[in-house]
Amino acid sequence: MSRQQIALGRVLGIPIGLDYSWFLIFALITWALASSYYPVEFPTWAPAMYWVMGALTAVMLFVSVLLHELGHSAVALRFRIPVRSITLFIFGGVAQIATDPPGALAEFLVAAAGPLVSFTLAALFDGLKGLAPAGGALFGLLEYLAYINAALAIFNLIPGFPLDGGRVFRAIVWAVTRDMRRATWVAAMVGRGFAFLFILYGVWQVFAGRFADGLWIAFIGWFLDNAAAGQIQQQAVQGRLAGHTVAQVMDPHVPAVDGTMTLQEVVDGHVMRTGDRAFLVMEAAGAAGLLTFHRITEVPRDDWPSTAASQVMVPFDRVHSVAPDTPVWQALQQMEQTGASQLPVVTEGRVVGLVSRQDVGAFLRTLGELGT
Ligand SMILES: [Zn+2]
Repeated sequence: MSRQQIALGRVLGIPIGLDYSWFLIFALITWALASSYYPVEFPTWAPAMYWVMGALTAVMLFVSVLLHELGHSAVALRFRIPVRSITLFIFGGVAQIATDPPGALAEFLVAAAGPLVSFTLAALFDGLKGLAPAGGALFGLLEYLAYINAALAIFNLIPGFPLDGGRVFRAIVWAVTRDMRRATWVAAMVGRGFAFLFILYGVWQVFAGRFADGLWIAFIGWFLDNAAAGQIQQQAVQGRLAGHTVAQVMDPHVPAVDGTMTLQEVVDGHVMRTGDRAFLVMEAAGAAGLLTFHRITEVPRDDWPSTAASQVMVPFDRVHSVAPDTPVWQALQQMEQTGASQLPVVTEGRVVGLVSRQDVGAFLRTLGELGT
């Protein structure tokens, strides 16, 4: 879990995190509800009640978003698709579902599960509302939660990838064309179309004098457009890397240092002279771990002369590695998921090379220049 978030625990074995940006949205929602929505809808409440109910509603909104994401995750897990984490952040929630879905049906069901949970919650809160005394605080809370869960489901069903509706749409195109890459491209282009409509409508609202609403709608459009454009770009990279293996991209030169060398010696004698950024650490029994530039910079500079390479290295049993015949795209995804800048390439227990993000970037540039 990254440093920008707070760990909240696990549900279904999935770590749940809260991005710091969520506190901003929590404050905004509480303020908007307490200062305008609740006083207008329920003018008879005591003043302090507006703030209590505003904060409580914001927390329940958070729970609703979490349940929506857990809906996606539970179905993903049934299809044995690993879910790495769920993060709640400024735009709601994101379940980090690790790999591409195994088929169109799995994709369809995983994507549809979130909005289905939200619609169910909307119906549940609406039903409970009927049992609460009309006009009271509980009634107000349930009414708002019914409305916001329905809105959440409908917004997510906009058929623009990567929103849920876009994934449902992609699954259908995928089932028809039997081509996931083509389906992703079509869904992302439709997503850009919807994003453009959001921006256009937002700008029109701004000129019509509804400045705050218009700006917010245009901002959502901009966010959707970025997400869709990112998908298209990712698709292009994946297409270009198709058929290429790590063996073609890796650097077969693997610099090694002795485990007893100090970090100062590694920096002065190797990093500064050769520009190498990752080293095999050799001990009496052979290669024992990997020392990366990143690990060195985490040690205070004053401690470099007194810290040995073997103290700072990542031992081999904890290093993620790839095989020479691993597809480059898969290696790139592995680096993204583990946050590593490079991976050792291992065959028959021997390190035969290193593959880094820079290597993949250079390879992509070369492919582009060769026009292949
Ligand atoms: Zn969703």
